[in-house]
Amino acid sequence: MLLLMGGVAVLVVLVLAVLKNPKADGDETAARKVIHVSGVYSVLRKSPREDLAALRPTEEEIKKYLAGVSEDVNGVPLKVSDRTALLRHWKAQTEMNLRGIESGDKGGAVFYYYDYLKECPVCGSFIAKGNFVTREEIYKYPQIVPPFHLGCACVLAAHHGSEKMVRETALAGMVPFFEGDTPPPLPEWTAVLSLSAAAGVKK
Ligand SMILES: [Zn+2]
Repeated sequence: MLLLMGGVAVLVVLVLAVLKNPKADGDETAARKVIHVSGVYSVLRKSPREDLAALRPTEEEIKKYLAGVSEDVNGVPLKVSDRTALLRHWKAQTEMNLRGIESGDKGGAVFYYYDYLKECPVCGSFIAKGNFVTREEIYKYPQIVPPFHLGCACVLAAHHGSEKMVRETALAGMVPFFEGDTPPPLPEWTAVLSLSAAAGVKK
């Protein structure tokens, strides 16, 4: 009798375990959809702010790194004021891009495209103006949010429209930044582009 009850108990546990797992997965998928995919749902998206911060160097790391850099990628000498400006610029550009995404979320933007405030010789070979990414890709790969390196002039702008509109927009040559599940290589943050030397250069 005791053996039979034990057997039944084990069976019940096994059945519960089988029933529980697919349900848990299903709930998680549903939650992800509601939070991160646009469409008919009332979308409450998670800002990439924290995930991006976890991938990027800290202010201290940047300061320490800059202290040991005497010239930028073009051989332009860096003064103390240039280093301070580069750190301030990095923080401001990061904030601007994040705010752009957070504000795009309020308007339900699905597509974002890369643009350049001025020419960025470091990013030029990695990202073309008009390359676009989806909000879902930003969520999955926060590293695709600029700035990519010190002195970077690349920005991500929200596009309020469908994929058809994105492709037909005035910014000619809008193509996906990447296809599939792996973002292409991005510039190293340690590439320094002096702000004073690049000033005034328009693309
Ligand atoms: Zn750049």
